[in-house]
Amino acid sequence: MKEGIHPKYQPSKVTCVCGASFETGSTRKELKVEICSNCHPFYTGSQRQVEVGGRADKFRKKYGLK
Ligand SMILES: [Zn+2]
Repeated sequence: MKEGIHPKYQPSKVTCVCGASFETGSTRKELKVEICSNCHPFYTGSQRQVEVGGRADKFRKKYGLK
């Protein structure tokens, strides 16, 4: 048996781009993900809200509102 070819499975901290972080088990100490259960539309249903918000921002800019 050679040593070093099997990464150690350990607790790892997963950080999402949305700012949420959680612990899981992985062969890597730290992980970065672009989407998680906290921001995934499948879980939050926020995808539509984000799109609406974008349009509202354009509307506000167009008419100089804050
Ligand atoms: Zn997230």
